[in-house]
Amino acid sequence: MRKNHDKVSYLRPTPDVIPRAGHNISTGNISEGALKVLYRLKNAGYAGYLVGGGVRDLLLGREPKDFDVVTDATPEQIRELFRNSRLIGRRFRLAHVRFGAEIVEVSTFRAPHHDSGDAGHVVDGRIVRDNVYGSIDEDVWRRDFTVNALFYNIADESVVDYVQGMNDIKSGCIRLIGDPRRRFIEDPVRLLRAVRFATKLGFKISPETGSRIPELASTLGDIAPARLFEECLKMFFNGYALQTFEQLRRYDLFKELFPQTEEALTAQQGGFPYTFVANALRNTDDRLAQNKPVTPGFLIAALLWLPMEKLTREHIARGMNEMDAIMLAGDIVVSRQTRAIAVPRRFTSMARDIWQLQPRLTRRSNRRPHRLIENPRFRAGYDFLLLRAQSGESVNELAEWWTQFQQDQPETKSHTRNRHNRRWRRR
Ligand code: ATP
Ligand code: MG
Repeated sequence: MRKNHDKVSYLRPTPDVIPRAGHNISTGNISEGALKVLYRLKNAGYAGYLVGGGVRDLLLGREPKDFDVVTDATPEQIRELFRNSRLIGRRFRLAHVRFGAEIVEVSTFRAPHHDSGDAGHVVDGRIVRDNVYGSIDEDVWRRDFTVNALFYNIADESVVDYVQGMNDIKSGCIRLIGDPRRRFIEDPVRLLRAVRFATKLGFKISPETGSRIPELASTLGDIAPARLFEECLKMFFNGYALQTFEQLRRYDLFKELFPQTEEALTAQQGGFPYTFVANALRNTDDRLAQNKPVTPGFLIAALLWLPMEKLTREHIARGMNEMDAIMLAGDIVVSRQTRAIAVPRRFTSMARDIWQLQPRLTRRSNRRPHRLIENPRFRAGYDFLLLRAQSGESVNELAEWWTQFQQDQPETKSHTRNRHNRRWRRR
């Protein structure tokens, strides 16, 4: 207790406070929901700040994905203030306040974790589950990057900056707060977040932060595989998948996520493996830019296609028939992959379907094409064939044949076929 307070007072520097006239955030750019939350907190006598990606994106003149609010009100007090709210999270309780389709996340200031034993989750004599509530000048230190740690204060519309985050916004720099090595070890997901933000914002990773990434890349293995999958979705479905992939490779992170793919890329002779993966990711980016649906199942199929093919060929060389070889290779490749990232079964099973469709697409006699085109995965399998053709596999003629075949079918069918999952929007 005493110890914590000493630590806190030691950490308590004065922030830069940038008045309304000194920055470009106007209430007009803040969502209606977030504004309502901020004003209601203020009117009830609580502190209310926007924080995180919302502030960062507004300062950069970009449209925020969502808005996060922090306050000194406890979750129970937030709950009382907003009838349209729900408390979530076991370890860290926070409130989701809903306004129609918009959800504003409201959390209570928290102090960083202290290393002293677990019994010490005490603030002002209170033990609140695993929540250590704090004040704004404690909350700031548990955040990851300086550009994510700026607070917009609804009381006077100023921006509060404890970490020189404004400088990094201006110079385009992703920099961990505090000692980078310690902060990465504390939560290795930050390794991926560094790359994701740098790519999305077109920022550089500061040398001190960036130089730590390759040496700590293997700590990604300590992250729960399900959380890694979530993070992968954010990296590959944000419209910058190709660039993210290249940065992940540059920082030795990609091999931790897709070890078999990395192996194929490293072993490549001629450009095919790289071209194939790059085209798959570029495709994803293009589809998102055109507001077309994308699905993790398709991307998993593409990212694992190189190891898949290699293993399939090996099985065939040992005398197995093509379809058995594909099924067996699929089992092996998927099970190796899911040791790194917990890809949910519905997506790995879609990937397998897509792979198994590839040899079936070569069989064009009699009524077979008519039956195949009714397969719920046909469209994904055909898109995959196009990707292969586009990347230099010798399936051009086959791909064109299927394009023509579909055009020759009556209108009605071609619209009901596309069963891509629409949930995977830009993240
Ligand atoms: P996005 O545009 O992807 O939403 P964001 O910065 O808002 O970016 P979130 O994951 O929504 O990212 O998190 C909100 C804020 O919470 C971050 O800006 C950061 O301050 C803090 N935060 C999130 N994840 C971490 C983490 N792993 N470590 C430290 N702070 C984090
Ligand atoms: Mg956010």
